[in-house]
Amino acid sequence: MKAKVDFSLVIPVFNEADNVSELIRRCLAVCRADGGTFEIILVDDGSSDGSDEMIIQAATTYGREIVGVILNRNYGQHAAVIAGLAQCRGDIIVTLDADLQNPPEEIPRLLEEIHKGFDVVGTIRINRRDSWFRKTASSLINSMVRRTTGVMMQDYGCMLRAYRRPIIQAILQCREHSTFIPILANSFARKTSEIPVKHDSRSQGNSKYSIFKLISLQFDLLTSMSTFPLRLLSFLGTIIALSGITFGVFLMIMRLHMGSAWAAEGVFTLFAVLFVFIGAQFIGLGLLGEYIGRIYQDVRNRPSYFVSQIVTGRVQEHSVTPLETARSLSETHSFVQKGK
Ligand code: UDP
Ligand code: MG
Repeated sequence: MKAKVDFSLVIPVFNEADNVSELIRRCLAVCRADGGTFEIILVDDGSSDGSDEMIIQAATTYGREIVGVILNRNYGQHAAVIAGLAQCRGDIIVTLDADLQNPPEEIPRLLEEIHKGFDVVGTIRINRRDSWFRKTASSLINSMVRRTTGVMMQDYGCMLRAYRRPIIQAILQCREHSTFIPILANSFARKTSEIPVKHDSRSQGNSKYSIFKLISLQFDLLTSMSTFPLRLLSFLGTIIALSGITFGVFLMIMRLHMGSAWAAEGVFTLFAVLFVFIGAQFIGLGLLGEYIGRIYQDVRNRPSYFVSQIVTGRVQEHSVTPLETARSLSETHSFVQKGK
């Protein structure tokens, strides 16, 4: 079993050579001042500007305090964070962006909040320093997520977040490829909280998200929370078919009253019939979608539950305890002890 630390800081880095030294300096200062044991995990997501060498250099210089995880190519921010999570040993895990938009100096406030007994602590960016387009897009997405997941969080986009170990353990058990970590984490959390944090404009370089990467991220987000879009088809189909039928009935009544010339000699009737068929097709598609949705759920193979603690008076029989449960058990115990 790996030695534990109080908290791990996980930071994805993609072409951030201008920020890395400053990032390391500020993070080290904050973490050392905290007094607990810590590790800073820097994940290089296939940078081509020498960020990886800087990380390796820092990891050799600072020994136990900095861990470098170098990926062989660019996999995207969330995949990089997952790679870091898989390596971390902290009881509490804090994720942060490498571009210093969220000041590392806010970390102690996050830790303080999570020690109040929350599983996940999110952050709300006050006077957010992003472009108008990014702000509008993300406020739209945030409200949609709130409505579909039912998890009340104001700001999903900010990656400065703190998680407890069992939540991370649950995330690591999810085998799906397209993930959006804050949402995945919330689906496993019982108590969540949010605190306002400062948000600066990017200190060096440009956003690493092109418009295409952003669109693909939004799709990840949408499909990772629900299969609702697939159901939308059935819903749409039902509406079209119903309006076709209503139109047909309306035509029949009018035809009887006004004579055949009124309905353009049957052309309108054709429309009514067509609507019903189009509607039926949509319903059929929606049904197919329903099956695909279920297949998707199964393929993702998310754990349907995650045990964080088992309390029992009986003698432990180790043969019946699955490995993961045992691991999460021991970790939860260490929380309990520390909390006292
Ligand atoms: N990032 C990454 N891989 C990518 C894109 C981004 O690891 O393919 C990292 C990047 O280095 C930064 C964080 O993810 O630490 C957030 O990226 P960025 O600041 O460009 O996003 P924005 O703030 O514009 O949402
Ligand atoms: Mg940024």
